[in-house]
Amino acid sequence: MSAETFAKLIDGKAVAAQIRAEVAARATALAERGVRGGLAAVLVGDNPASHTYVRMKRKACAEVGIESFYYELPAETSQADLEALVESLNARADVHGILVQLPLPAPLDEQRVLSLISTAKDVDGFHPLNIGRLAMKGREPDFLPATPAGVMRLLEAYDAPFAGANAVVLGRSNIVGMPCALLLTKRDCTVTICHSRTRDLPDVIRRADILVAAVGRPQMVKGDWIKAGALVIDVGTNRVPDSSAKDGSRLVGDVDFEAARQVAGAITPVPGGVGPMTIAMLLENTIKAAERSLS
Ligand code: NDP
Repeated sequence: MSAETFAKLIDGKAVAAQIRAEVAARATALAERGVRGGLAAVLVGDNPASHTYVRMKRKACAEVGIESFYYELPAETSQADLEALVESLNARADVHGILVQLPLPAPLDEQRVLSLISTAKDVDGFHPLNIGRLAMKGREPDFLPATPAGVMRLLEAYDAPFAGANAVVLGRSNIVGMPCALLLTKRDCTVTICHSRTRDLPDVIRRADILVAAVGRPQMVKGDWIKAGALVIDVGTNRVPDSSAKDGSRLVGDVDFEAARQVAGAITPVPGGVGPMTIAMLLENTIKAAERSLS
């Protein structure tokens, strides 16, 4: 097959770089009005992936001129202490966004902590009120969750024909699958949500004009499950063994990329697709929160 018949690559790095540049310009404009955007990142315990994510988010803040405040707490932190920290951050004028890195170690009650974050500072968009507004007709959340917002931006950047399209979302998690399904519904797609109990999954996916895969299973979606010309957004980030790689592993998505790109109209690579968008959207939410603090 010639290269021309392969799917267009949806370049998350490029779209994210543009968003970051816009955020940096907004941060400069705010600084001229005497406000420095500030994000508080709270990390509890020693989950190595969480440490990596928070490090990346703080570095990204520094690059666009957003101040980050970092709170690293031991795994045995009590629910009361964590809640007191969130309340104190809610009250601070220099903190515009609050990010509590998930998952929290047991027995901390994640939902209780998330619901304590002021909705005006909920830059992760996980507060139940914000998620609820997302599900309601005629209501808008203060903030959209970063990964689903990034998925939508990528689809927009590649001119997805939303209205009336069959969209299939594989996965129904609170942080990715469900909000993606709600956002696609708001854009007038006909949405099917698939999960671990879905029957005849390949057939359901074959009807998708737009497919969002967020299942966390390496290369589960096969090339012959993809409708010709479909837009495929692969949220999955799965580490698989690879003896040719320096650290003995590499990242793959939930979609069999090499097979799918021969059928799809456009597809995100992993890495370099949704991943960079997640951080870019968090930065955008934070600068939005800082701008709103002026009004
Ligand atoms: P979860 O584990 O919370 O959710 C996975 C979903 O997939 C569930 O709804 C589950 O169904 C469904 N599922 C599991 N197995 C199957 C199966 N065999 N067939 C059909 N559905 C199945 O994952 P997340 O939503 O948190 O993350 C999904 C992926 O996205 C992961 O790889 C994660 O690393 C990645 N991710 C990437 C981000 C990025 O920035 N690029 C950000 C966030 C996540 P059920 O509900 O029935 O259990």
